[in-house]
Amino acid sequence: MVKSETSVWKDCLSFIKSQVEEQSFRTWFEPIKPLGLNETTLTIQVPSQFFYEYLEEHYVHLLRECVQNELGSEGKLEYSVIVDSGSVQNQPYMVTLPNQNKKNNNWGRREEPEMINPFKMQSLDQDSRYSNLNPNYYFDNYIEGDCNRLARSAGIAVAEKPGITSFNPLMIYGGVGLGKTHLVQAIGNKVKEQGENNFVLYVSSEKFTTQFTDAIRNNSIQSFTNFYLQVDTLIIDDVQFFSGKEKTQEMFFHIFNHLHQNGKQIIMSSDRAPRDLKGLQDRLLSRFKWGLTADLQMPDFETRMAIIMRKMQSDGIYIPDDVVEYLAYSVDTNVRELEGVLISLIAHATLNKTDINLELAKQTLKNIVHDIESEVGVDYIQKTVGEFFQISVEDLKDKTRKKEIVIARQVAMYLCKEYTNHSLKSIGYHFGGRDHSTVIHAVQSVSDMMDIDSKFCNSMDELKKKMKMKLV
Ligand code: ADP
Ligand code: MG
Repeated sequence: MVKSETSVWKDCLSFIKSQVEEQSFRTWFEPIKPLGLNETTLTIQVPSQFFYEYLEEHYVHLLRECVQNELGSEGKLEYSVIVDSGSVQNQPYMVTLPNQNKKNNNWGRREEPEMINPFKMQSLDQDSRYSNLNPNYYFDNYIEGDCNRLARSAGIAVAEKPGITSFNPLMIYGGVGLGKTHLVQAIGNKVKEQGENNFVLYVSSEKFTTQFTDAIRNNSIQSFTNFYLQVDTLIIDDVQFFSGKEKTQEMFFHIFNHLHQNGKQIIMSSDRAPRDLKGLQDRLLSRFKWGLTADLQMPDFETRMAIIMRKMQSDGIYIPDDVVEYLAYSVDTNVRELEGVLISLIAHATLNKTDINLELAKQTLKNIVHDIESEVGVDYIQKTVGEFFQISVEDLKDKTRKKEIVIARQVAMYLCKEYTNHSLKSIGYHFGGRDHSTVIHAVQSVSDMMDIDSKFCNSMDELKKKMKMKLV
């Protein structure tokens, strides 16, 4: 039976659906239309150039896999991109683009390139000195703030004189999405820039572990060590993965000592402070203390604004100031999430062919916050509390000091603290730009009232029930 493009794409979609998050599926795959099928080539229509680039950047392997499942190993994909010429007279037109693996986009989260197999090498020629560095991570686009000043400047110092400063090893630690990989890669790129003969190698500790276990299996430990001992600047990302892997740690210890003794630079990152790295041998931990340990914190509001503006600028996209401010206030979990929100916002604007404005930003954030945290948001709390006390949301945000409004406002702030991940500062912002100390005071007052006033306590229980219902 000859398949039609519709049925092929339908099967592709059901495969894709099983592989990606629901929000991503809705944003990136539902809007696609199958256009044609020509023996082994499926043509799909996507709404914009940005959309096409995003798919190629993030989902190229998945798309290839599902098309080949459907059409065999010769199966190919072609995009028909709607190009919006921006005026009524010139209707959107289509361009056809092949499916390729375009890796040069500025949005983090790409797949790591395959590393060459170190086990086959005797001595390393220039080509084999593959660094595994991502050229999009450099210092200029790593925004400086109080959150990263020490780590960033130590990184620059190390990059200028690898192996020579006292920052050896350099250990960077911080929570997920706070810029560890970006920073260590920036160091690698800068070192590389300075000398052709510098062998810089970036490797995740997971990959190091896999290579090492493969080497044991293939009886090629010698080549494995040989490879690593020739590195001039070794960057190991996420060393927390070494926890509990005794044999790998032993091997790393050996390589570490050798490189260090020979004046080579070692840079490491970890998602927690060395003292909290459970399951790591003491002798390895004590080595980490030889150099410098610097932490990364969540960027403050101003730094977040600067990060957003820098991203927008490098993508040639304009976002009004009030939207930048709103995003910087609202997303205070980590930088990766902040970037995720930006991507969605641009995607929504592209799909709906609208400008990016505050309304759209709020809408987008609402979906995402719901998606990533599956929790109640500030808007929901304000609305629910407003209805409960029969007060408008505007009044909650307003300056009025009428007693019943003050109490309702404090209750809403209290619930925001309890049920969302917003910081005190951010909660204050959502209530008419109040100070974080006002929020602290509100939380305290509500707890006190719950202790002494049973009627109030019942009301709070009822409200909390509404929050929980939303959570399910
Ligand atoms: P981690 O490795 O700590 O989980 P990443 O280095 O992958 O975090 O950072 C997540 C994203 O945030 C990346 O796209 C990175 O470019 C971006 N990012 C983090 N910190 C900054 C910063 N100070 N300036 C600009 N972009 C940043
Ligand atoms: Mg990382």
